[in-house]
Amino acid sequence: MRLVIIGAPGSGKGTQAARISEKLGVPAISTGDIFRENVRNLTPLGQKATTFMDNGDFVPDAITNQMVRDRLREEDAQQGFLLDGYPRTVAQVDYLDGILNSAELGISAVLQLVVPDSELVSRLLARAAESGRSDDTEQVIKHRLELYHQQTERVVSRYSERGMLVKADGTGSISDVLERALQAVTEASGVLSRLVSQ
Ligand code: ADP
Repeated sequence: MRLVIIGAPGSGKGTQAARISEKLGVPAISTGDIFRENVRNLTPLGQKATTFMDNGDFVPDAITNQMVRDRLREEDAQQGFLLDGYPRTVAQVDYLDGILNSAELGISAVLQLVVPDSELVSRLLARAAESGRSDDTEQVIKHRLELYHQQTERVVSRYSERGMLVKADGTGSISDVLERALQAVTEASGVLSRLVSQ
């Protein structure tokens, strides 16, 4: 299974990615988590990414693409993966296509978690109070949402045109969303839907 999960900031994609990957037995690869870890450890990659992240901007494609390429070469990703937070620009879609095509692989399905903007903002502001994430301030949150609508929805359209996109309602409890997400993904990728009830 090679999956992509797409959702706006605050949509719960990280939470669901961790659960879905556990259910399906593939590693969840979160570009946001990898960047944050590099920032914490003061690595050269973290130093390149930190200002972009603090401002709610995307880290430049060249940096992000290379990081993902290296991550996908690791042993645990050879049997499948769930990409969380990548691709989020059209250039990243093209780059990922290139990586997979050269290995004669494809993506099984792309899952979009759908949550209305009004709820995203209230979730993010609530999280801001406790997360300590430097990009969870009101102004930066607004910018991250704008970028999602401007850039990442074009990624969604790309996959939709290819017939690879499935959507799941991202509102409600974590377990309800998980159930919907697994249902959508297993139907789309043709994996036995009994996984859902395990
Ligand atoms: P969210 O989706 O909640 O904004 P993430 O944890 O997915 O947060 O990402 C946090 C930050 O990491 C982004 O705002 C961006 O700066 C950087 N980032 C993560 N993934 C990418 C990507 N695919 N391309 C560029 N920047 C990225």
